[in-house]
Amino acid sequence: MDISVLSGIGTGRAKQLLEIGIRTVADLLRFLPRDYEDRSVITPINELIPGAVYTVRATIAAEGENVNFNKLVITKIQIEGNLQLVWFGQPYLKRAFKKHEEYLFTGRVTESYGRLQMESPEYEKAADINLSAGRIVPVYTLPKGISQKMFRKWVKAALDVGLKEIEEHLQEAIQNIHFPESNEHFYNARRRLVFEELFLMQLALLHIKGARQPGIIIGEIELKPFLNKLPFTLTDAQLSTLDDIKADLQKGQRMNRLVQGDVGSGKTAVAAAAAYLVINAGYQVAIMAPTEVLARQHYKQLSNLFDDCILLTGSLKAKEKREAHEAIQNGKARMIIGTHALIQEGVAYHNLGLVITDEQHRFGVNQRAALSEKGFFATLPHTLIMTATPIPRTLGLILYGDMDISTINALPPGRQSIKTYRVNSAYKKRLVTFMAKQVAEGRQVYIICPAIEESEADIYDVNTYTERLQKALPDIPIACLHGRLKDKESVMAAFAKNEFPIIVSTTVIEVGVDVPNATLIIIENAERFGLSQLHQLRGRVGRGQHQSYCVLVTDSKAEHTLERMQAMEKSNDGFELSELDLKLRGPGDFFGVEQHGLPAFAIANLYRDMDILKEAQQAALNMYESGANVDHLVGKIIKGMVTM
Ligand code: ADP
Ligand code: MG
Repeated sequence: MDISVLSGIGTGRAKQLLEIGIRTVADLLRFLPRDYEDRSVITPINELIPGAVYTVRATIAAEGENVNFNKLVITKIQIEGNLQLVWFGQPYLKRAFKKHEEYLFTGRVTESYGRLQMESPEYEKAADINLSAGRIVPVYTLPKGISQKMFRKWVKAALDVGLKEIEEHLQEAIQNIHFPESNEHFYNARRRLVFEELFLMQLALLHIKGARQPGIIIGEIELKPFLNKLPFTLTDAQLSTLDDIKADLQKGQRMNRLVQGDVGSGKTAVAAAAAYLVINAGYQVAIMAPTEVLARQHYKQLSNLFDDCILLTGSLKAKEKREAHEAIQNGKARMIIGTHALIQEGVAYHNLGLVITDEQHRFGVNQRAALSEKGFFATLPHTLIMTATPIPRTLGLILYGDMDISTINALPPGRQSIKTYRVNSAYKKRLVTFMAKQVAEGRQVYIICPAIEESEADIYDVNTYTERLQKALPDIPIACLHGRLKDKESVMAAFAKNEFPIIVSTTVIEVGVDVPNATLIIIENAERFGLSQLHQLRGRVGRGQHQSYCVLVTDSKAEHTLERMQAMEKSNDGFELSELDLKLRGPGDFFGVEQHGLPAFAIANLYRDMDILKEAQQAALNMYESGANVDHLVGKIIKGMVTM
């Protein structure tokens, strides 16, 4: 049923509505309120208190008047009782009201020269059906030129003529989500619609997961020669993840697997083993890292294990880049490591069999789209995603619902847990002594500051900090690293070689950097960082055999800061901490929802609706496993969903 069947909607209005995605009556009904105002209570005029929003029922006492004030026209209308209505810049309202007629007005009441007035109230004739007053009233997010009042009328009309266009089991909920009769009606309606939304999304994810495209079959390949080259034996946790991957590669379906493992759990070795299998079956493998630093680090490690290994990043010289492109295209390059330069135009693969992405959540949406099915690659390579950012289970099912997940749930043996302490700045001197002691023992130190240069009081910045520390420790070379430096690579490389025993850095060193000789990380202004981020930062140490330390420096006494610091002192477990982080911050804040590619919901709110989510997930699973045909249910959602 086209939207133009509603009275008051001509071609102009229809066009405006199309801009917010409304073409049909059903679309209009599915356009949900952003908020509500409870105008069900009508307050007698003699009970108004300035400062709050009220709805009053009142009769117009006199003709309106327009007053010019500077360049603004102020319209004043006197109603019976001690209340004046004022509007700004809408002179035509002077004639909008009939004397002696009764209206409902809703607006903020203020006091002006001892008189009560209501500013820019919304109004409606008391004799009309009450849509905008005298009830719980919906508020929509509307484009300019469409008023709330107008829109409510259309919604009401749509409910009258078009409710049957909505699935029967949702009709009551749709009715009540727009014009709830009571709070209770609203809560029930909302719950019903949230459930529907989450249920369908879960079903769609299960559907995508089940309907995998065909993938290259990698037959049995002997892994021993590769494992023998490693300087350690893989842990059981690594081996079991590798078994999952092997099984995927033999299935004849495209692999889409997420490997999550805490910092230092040894994901690189697992990725390398997977790459070995695919390369030995005759295909190319690409490993994509989010930063140059990481790409180079992978290259350095992996070129020891693989022949025909090449690096492709944005900073290569034109000639090097050309050579890399050529080797990728003619197939000479087997193991291809790089940044998102790997999926830029001009790169053509000879026969890519596997793409491994490290820390995928750090990539932008476009880069992710390029990796997805209709994206960049001519063939459909297997995909493997590595993440050190443990996602709480419930969120994981949404973010990665279309993937298989392996978890490396134990660290290599011999790792000592990192001793973590929270201190305040009174400890500064002692910390400097502690740094010097670690360095004297041949170890290395990270210091993290939130800012690059001096800006806010009480916020440490790398520049000032480096300067001061260098004065306190004149004999120790101190490196300084931040995102604005051109040559981060060589600073990082020099630190890795222990040319600088101490590095002062912003969070650019956060992911993946591996310097096993570093044993102390000091995080200044620790209150500035989320729990998961603190844990990631802490993971820069404790990567070798030596006892490592993390010192969180903060003078904040805020309760939620204290909670985070105590959690860090108590736990070394990334999963535990991420669950807690979710609880403390809510998913909206959880690394930034966008970064994670969380779908946008019309009504569900993942933090508030976690319990409904669990129910919906179970219901979707039951339905999917019952073998029912769900194509008609999920088709539309899949089209609208950005899959990773
Ligand atoms: P992450 O999972 O954070 O990417 P890495 O793959 O960088 O971790 O591994 C962290 C460190 O542990 C590296 O120095 C690596 O060589 C080492 N490592 C990986 N697997 C093992 C193992 N099974 N035994 C001992 N050390 C290992
Ligand atoms: Mg890593």
